[in-house]
Amino acid sequence: MTTSTEVAKNYICGEWKEATTGETIKSKNPATGQLIGESQKSSAEDVDYAIKGAKTAFESTDWRLNSTRRADALMKWAMEISKNKDEIARLLTMENGKILKESIMELNACIDTLKYFSGLARNVFGRSISLSATSYGIIDKEPIGVVGIISPWNWPALLMIREAAPALAAGNAIILKPASLTPLVSIALVKCLAKIEEFPSGMVNIVTGPGKLIGDEIVTHPDVDVISFTGDTTTGKTLMKKAADKMKKLALELGGKSPNILFPDADLSKAIPTITNSIFITAGQMCFAGTRVIVHESIHKQVVERLKVEAEKIIVGNGLDDTTTMGPVVSQSQLNTVLQYCEIGKREANLVIGGNRLTGGEYDSGYFIQPTIFDQVPSDSKIIQEEIFGPVLAIQVFKDEKEAISLANGTRFGLAAGVWTKEIDRAIRVAKQVKAGTVWINTYNKNYPQTEFGGYKESGLGRTRGLEGLMEYTETKHINIEIENR
Ligand code: NAD
Repeated sequence: MTTSTEVAKNYICGEWKEATTGETIKSKNPATGQLIGESQKSSAEDVDYAIKGAKTAFESTDWRLNSTRRADALMKWAMEISKNKDEIARLLTMENGKILKESIMELNACIDTLKYFSGLARNVFGRSISLSATSYGIIDKEPIGVVGIISPWNWPALLMIREAAPALAAGNAIILKPASLTPLVSIALVKCLAKIEEFPSGMVNIVTGPGKLIGDEIVTHPDVDVISFTGDTTTGKTLMKKAADKMKKLALELGGKSPNILFPDADLSKAIPTITNSIFITAGQMCFAGTRVIVHESIHKQVVERLKVEAEKIIVGNGLDDTTTMGPVVSQSQLNTVLQYCEIGKREANLVIGGNRLTGGEYDSGYFIQPTIFDQVPSDSKIIQEEIFGPVLAIQVFKDEKEAISLANGTRFGLAAGVWTKEIDRAIRVAKQVKAGTVWINTYNKNYPQTEFGGYKESGLGRTRGLEGLMEYTETKHINIEIENR
């Protein structure tokens, strides 16, 4: 495992290697500012070496053909993470800032995802079709080759495994590029697979370093066949343009501005705590965080009051402390961004609670922000239209169902939404009209490895998780057979 102040190395072609630059990047705890370890500041040369190794592993071993081997490898990886779960969870909290309970939740989701795709590794089914008396078609699903997986820092363990597991299950080789703010937890997960003999050397590689340099090399390298990117919509667009030159396949999981729509008959005793959790979990740094509440005018006042009471219960602090219910944001730059949006909110809407950095005592060493709620936010405000990625909730008010749907769809994003009503017809009617990849009815944040997830509009391309998530990492081939009739 990665321990404090350890200098973690890249894992390339089955070996732990230092970067050719001789330089490292420091990882600091966002709650305390303390150094927790270092990782390699890799060069394009290091990435090239890893990509070539992955290509050789893909072409020269039976990995792509041996589904039992892949199933066993993924299951053993799940077991190894399970054995080291508590230690990795602490590291995750120290590196990202999220509370320990959320770190455990994240690692449990990693284990569950690997187990699910271990099963699917043996089920990469195609189809067959009788085309005429003399013609028969096989629609085959094949692994593509080398997949570059670029992941963000907010749920760094799960978002890496969420893509690594289906890419490997389908028979591909992978290069992992974790976010520069959270490389140590990603490396700790790769350490868990290093001794599993079912993984051929070079099938899984991890290279750490600056996003643009390492990312660029992965995206433009001729031997990388698929780019799997989870991150900011703007970065996703940049990658798309760069990948266009070589027509690379892209799987993009991007940003969101997801609403919870509250109708007058909503069960508020369930809705209010669920919505509060949906925005303040991981200090609001979650792609499908419930960043907006769209509430009917008849219950508006009491919803605002009850959300305020719920937000007041949140205890902000170091995620390793048992009593803490919300940790810091991940970095100084994230803190600055969120505070800038708070200032916009103060000018354009009604501040209900929060809006400031927390200071004094231990707060001075970290990036702590008050849970923040703005009410009566105009639809064209930046705090409605832009992803803040911090603990900031914006409330909008509607008069009728049509307006609720229009407000819900009134941003460039379409990742997720919640609909709260006891009337089943209305629930389904609204769910069908909201342009989002996931719609929860009378609940929120329920995710499973077996259910597809992804974005409409600028929230992404393709789907992760589930059968479609597996198929993102395959090519489809029609093999046609001429049958001789006697
Ligand atoms: P980011 O786009 O800044 O970085 C994501 C990854 O891309 C990192 O590994 C980074 O080093 C790398 N990167 C940065 N610039 C690059 C470039 N020019 N070329 C290639 N790679 C580059 O995003 P972030 O700040 O780490 O993460 C937050 C964003 O991720 C939010 O927008 C959030 O909504 C989104 N996100 C989406 C999902 C989803 O499933 N849809 C999940 C989590 C986070």
